[in-house]
Amino acid sequence: MPPDMPASTPYVDLEPVRWRGILARGAIYHALRTRLVALGESAGQGAHIRGALNDLELHINALTVDELDDETTVRRVVEAWDAALTQKLGMMPLEANVRELLTAARTLARDACGSDPFERMFAQISQRARALYGEAWRIPTLAVAHVGSHPRSASLQQDPYVVTARTPWSPDAVTSAVQLLIFCDEFGPAAYAALPILFVHECVCHVAAKQDRAKNDSVFAEGLLDWAAYYFLDLWASGIDPGLSPAARMHAQRLRGLLCQGETPESRARLYGHQSAETLRGWFETRCGHSPHEAEELVTVLAVKLNQVDRPLTEKDLFVTKLSDPLPPDLEEALRAWEDDQNTEDLLAAAVAA
Ligand SMILES: [Zn+2]
Repeated sequence: MPPDMPASTPYVDLEPVRWRGILARGAIYHALRTRLVALGESAGQGAHIRGALNDLELHINALTVDELDDETTVRRVVEAWDAALTQKLGMMPLEANVRELLTAARTLARDACGSDPFERMFAQISQRARALYGEAWRIPTLAVAHVGSHPRSASLQQDPYVVTARTPWSPDAVTSAVQLLIFCDEFGPAAYAALPILFVHECVCHVAAKQDRAKNDSVFAEGLLDWAAYYFLDLWASGIDPGLSPAARMHAQRLRGLLCQGETPESRARLYGHQSAETLRGWFETRCGHSPHEAEELVTVLAVKLNQVDRPLTEKDLFVTKLSDPLPPDLEEALRAWEDDQNTEDLLAAAVAA
C-alpha cells in the first residue's frame, strides 16, 4: 500500500482502529524481541521502565485513531516513543542497567515495520507443524480478533497473558481456521512473547486432529498433546525466531504454570495430561532403558501419531487415564509392541481393552 493511503484491516473481525493498535504493539514488541525478557517483567520492574512502557501505550492510543496505512501508523508511534525515550534518557539520573535497557529499546524500536507480525510468526510455526503431520495436515488460516476482557479474568500482575487461541472443529479434511483472541487494551510484552506457545499448541494439538470435536477438558487434546506442544516449542523456538526464543521459552513456561494451576476443568485436564505424559516418559526410561531425551521424544511421537488415529476422543482420553504408575500389564505389553511396529491404532485398541 502506498504511504498515507486510507487504512483497512487484514482481519474481518477486527475493526481498523483495533487492528492499528494491535499492529503497533506487535510490530514494536517484535522489534524489541531480544529485550522482551527484561521488558516483560512487570512485577519486578523499576518505575522508569514501567513509565517508558506507559508512554508507549499512550502514544499508541493517541496515534492509532488516525486512519493511516500500517507502515505510517507504526512509523509515527516509533517516532513519538523515540522522542519520549530521548527525553527520559537526557533528563533523568538513571541506574546503569535501566539506561542500557531504555537505550537499547530506543535503537531496536527504530527497526519496527508495518508488516503483520502475527501472520509471520504463525506461518513459521504452521510450516513446522505441517512437516510433523504430513498428509494429515489441514491448511490453517489465521484470524486475529479482539476480546473485551482478560481471558482468565485475572489481574495483569498475576497473569499478563491477555491472549488466547482456539481452532474451531473443522468438518473438512483439508483446511482449518485458527483464531487468536487478544484483549487489546492490555496487550503487553509478556503476552506477545507467549504467542509462539499458543500457536504451537493450536498447530500441534488441533489443526490436524483426526478425532471428533475437541473438548476443553480433554486430558488427551489439552493434556498429553499440550505436553508435546511444549516439547515442540522448545525444539523450534530458535528456528522460528532466534531473537525471540529466550522470551518465548520463558513466557511459555510461565503461562504453563498459570494454565495448570486453576480450578477449572480445563486446568485439571491439562495438569492430568501432563502428569500422564511424565509417567509414560518415566516408563520409557526405566522399563525400556531410554535416555530422558529419547523417552521425551517417544512420548511426543506417540501423542502426534495418536492425534491422527481416526477414533473417538473418548478412547484417546481413556488411554491417557491409564497412564498412571504402575501401568496395567497389558498396556505395558502393547507399548513394547508399539515401539517395534509403531502401529498406534493397535496400541489404542489394546489400551481401551486393558
Ligand atoms: Zn487446545
